[in-house]
Amino acid sequence: MPGILKRLFSKSPKKKKVTKEIATNSQTDSANARVLSRDAHSVSRKNISNSALKVLYRLNEAGYEAYLVGGGVRDILLGLQPKDFDVATDATPEEVQKVFRNCRLIGRRFRLAHILFGREVIEVATFRANHDSQPNPTQSKSSKNDLSRTSDHGMLMRDNVYGNIVEDAFRRDFTINALYYTVKDFSVIDYTHGLEDLAARKLRLIGEPEARYREDPVRILRAIRLACKLSLDIEKETAKPIKQLAELLSHVSSARLWDESNKMLLAGHAQSTWNMLHELGVAKFLFPDTIQCLEDNAAPKSAFSQFIQAALKSTDSRIANKLPVTPAFLFAVVLWEPINRLSIELKSKGMPAYEASQRAATRVMEKQRQVIGIPKRFSMVAKEIWALQHRLHNRRKKSVFSLIAHPRFRAAYDFLCLRAGDDAELNKLADWWTRYQELNAEQRNQFLNEVEHSPNKPKRRKPTNKSKTKQKQKRANGNRSTS
Ligand code: ATP
Ligand code: MG
Repeated sequence: MPGILKRLFSKSPKKKKVTKEIATNSQTDSANARVLSRDAHSVSRKNISNSALKVLYRLNEAGYEAYLVGGGVRDILLGLQPKDFDVATDATPEEVQKVFRNCRLIGRRFRLAHILFGREVIEVATFRANHDSQPNPTQSKSSKNDLSRTSDHGMLMRDNVYGNIVEDAFRRDFTINALYYTVKDFSVIDYTHGLEDLAARKLRLIGEPEARYREDPVRILRAIRLACKLSLDIEKETAKPIKQLAELLSHVSSARLWDESNKMLLAGHAQSTWNMLHELGVAKFLFPDTIQCLEDNAAPKSAFSQFIQAALKSTDSRIANKLPVTPAFLFAVVLWEPINRLSIELKSKGMPAYEASQRAATRVMEKQRQVIGIPKRFSMVAKEIWALQHRLHNRRKKSVFSLIAHPRFRAAYDFLCLRAGDDAELNKLADWWTRYQELNAEQRNQFLNEVEHSPNKPKRRKPTNKSKTKQKQKRANGNRSTS
């Protein structure tokens, strides 16, 4: 048990009844909260961003309840620095907007207020309730559809029924995410035995797991992501339905899966998360073509599998070293084999090599974008990285100069180094580019001259009569094709 949690429990906090206000508001009999006073836990204002504190104090001053909740409380109790801070309140989003000028309301499925402090965003959510609860009178003007709507698959398409803190706690996903911290008396309130699970390092869904996954299949991804990020065990009953229900992810919008896959792959734990997604049978609903290729070549040490593992590992280590990463690179990696396969297939049907690789890149990327809504600005970068892989083979002076100045050169070079794996030829090529980059301008010139005069110098094809005629025609047509 980590020191912090030992301290947390060694003071055997009094199991107080929840405050009168909460108990009378509660519509459930589960308001037997454990309340940890300030001296019994490690959440300090020093660990909370000033912006989050401002939001908490300002909502309290305006007469509303306000609590820090979610990752903010959970991570501090685990001795980690939270990535962001989430606030829960009894103010409706519109009421929150009246308190903060720097506020914008977002989301339809789950309506939220974002309070903006420069680049920091504090997410403020109104307490949610069960969908069979009586609608709150403040919501009566809205149509029922705007508050609560379920799809044919049992998925919640709208989750905007407001309630009180106790109901809110039971609407959250995992017990460790339902811990509330208040700046009124600096206590931490736990309705769902989250503190015990945190101490035992267990990730447990609140309520009946199958029903909770059906309501929102993204909880499957959140379970895997949080287990890997925080090194937690997924509790047995929470883990059990994952394999069987993973296919429900195919009903989740591609925009939401884009957000979630970014959180899974760009938070410093990409390798373990990818492996768990694969082991639990979830990955095939996110990366169908990639998993197909991996399964066709079942050897765990296949070149493609090694390439993916190397890229995930390198992404994690770049994040640990605070180096920039882009999702475009990882998508380029995981789609590399599907593209090569399709390209070979197209060539075998007589398509010229260049056209086949372009066509394959477009088709595979478009298919992937139907599942995970990769924005165009990233899918374009992935395509550039692929196109440069072919150009990296050409070491003529002119080509090298233009390649090295290309904005994607560095990504394409990293991609080559990783995909080289055990391939001797590709390693030789990667070494060449490594060496070239280490030289100064004068040495580079000399190095390239050696290539130009080496017996292995890439030969330019002699133009055939047919292509000579084509070139002549092109010249005669002037700039038409480029204008
Ligand atoms: P992170 O460190 O990634 O921010 P987090 O748990 O804070 O982790 P958020 O996406 O910021 O994740 O969500 C804040 C809180 O909102 C969660 O801790 C949880 O209580 C609740 N929550 C988020 N997504 C869901 C969901 N799909 N179903 C139920 N509750 C959710
Ligand atoms: Mg959060």
